[in-house]
Amino acid sequence: VSQAGEIAHMVAPSALFMRICVAYIDAMTFQTVSPTAEGRHVAIAGAGVIGLSCAFELVRRGARVTLFDPADISQSTSWAAAGMIAPAYELMLHGGQIDDAMSTLCFASADHWPDWARAVREASGLPVGHDTRPTLAIARTGEEVVRLDALFEQLRAGGKQVFRPVHGLIVGGARSALQLCSDHQVDNRKLLTALKAAIGRGGGKLVRQAVETRDEIEALAGEVDAIVWARGTRETCVSNMVKGQALALHPVAGGPTQVIRYGGGYIVPKADRIVIGATSEADFASAEVSYKATDALLQEARAVCPALSGARVSERWSGLRPLAPSGLPVIGRLGEGKDDFVATAHYRNGILLAPVTAKLIADAVEGHTVSQISKAFQPTRGMAATA
Ligand SMILES: Cc1cc2nc3c(=O)[nH]c(=O)nc-3n(C[C@H](O)[C@H](O)[C@H](O)COP(=O)(O)OP(=O)(O)OC[C@H]3O[C@@H](n4cnc5c(N)ncnc54)[C@H](O)[C@@H]3O)c2cc1C
Repeated sequence: VSQAGEIAHMVAPSALFMRICVAYIDAMTFQTVSPTAEGRHVAIAGAGVIGLSCAFELVRRGARVTLFDPADISQSTSWAAAGMIAPAYELMLHGGQIDDAMSTLCFASADHWPDWARAVREASGLPVGHDTRPTLAIARTGEEVVRLDALFEQLRAGGKQVFRPVHGLIVGGARSALQLCSDHQVDNRKLLTALKAAIGRGGGKLVRQAVETRDEIEALAGEVDAIVWARGTRETCVSNMVKGQALALHPVAGGPTQVIRYGGGYIVPKADRIVIGATSEADFASAEVSYKATDALLQEARAVCPALSGARVSERWSGLRPLAPSGLPVIGRLGEGKDDFVATAHYRNGILLAPVTAKLIADAVEGHTVSQISKAFQPTRGMAATA
């Protein structure tokens, strides 16, 4: 990077020169040099946010993409999400360090989100509801105050933008609060719709069919050069599913204008709904949504934000978050043989991590060496696409 910086001082940068510099800097971080996906036929199993994002990135790099999914996007966990892009608050929830592999990946993806949102919007001609207003995190108990203080120190030490809001901004029951400038949101439902449209515009095909093996894929789509397995909870490296229930309210006058987080709860205001979430259930008897659980979420949200008391419920739902034994996402090449890749186990952070996952998978499909950032997320020996 410093070499590129020195060269940039010596000559006036032309547009071509700037592109070379950017490619060089990229090579030092993500190790992308020049695209080689051009003309390759890539099949992707699963069209949630991860499969669609990988497909979008590969289409952008000139690949011929065929996606397989038996269900509509509205059935996916990605549709059930709240759309938060939250590297800082999630760092606190997963109890990590600002410079551990997971946080590095999360912050890298969050940094990439503005460009990603613009690219999807331009390629699809559709809005994605990307909203860069910071997230307000509040603490209501002594324990939460301690955790928020520790987060504040970690973020400051890591050079991330964070500040304590003036007293008037603090909402119901809060003893302290932080404005997290790195944490923001996208409308995940608009995003999925736009990604699908962009892939279609770029020549990608979506086949309404479940697939389990390479033979099945090739029988349906002809010979493929590479397969990306992105079937969420269906992938064999996913050991657990964590149920999340949530609900939405109709927009209301005086309602919040930014994401608010408190303990495990959140309020996420969008143009056409206010999302309130979410439960986190590792043991559950059924995947169904329950009135009791979602009413409890609503009650907690109303205590934090009394303006929500007048808003009517528009929807209740549940989704299953895919979790690997390591707790980390699994992103990379499966084994040394065929060109099979996997991208799954994004657990609570599939929306946040979609751009960086797409980039890492597209780089892997193009045959670039495994970058530093992705080493901790490589599939381990013995992981396979199918059981
Ligand atoms: C309530 C809730 C709130 C959440 N909020 C957030 C949030 O704010 N921010 C965030 O970053 N993350 C959030 N998450 C997590 C996020 O939703 C997931 O990490 C993400 O959706 C996983 O995406 P995916 O594409 O791997 O899986 P999915 O979205 O589940 O997609 C997998 C797809 O594979 C398809 N499939 C299954 N079997 C086959 C087969 N045999 N062949 C082909 N296709 C198949 C499925 O039909 C599905 O469409 C939330 C999750 C929940 C439940």
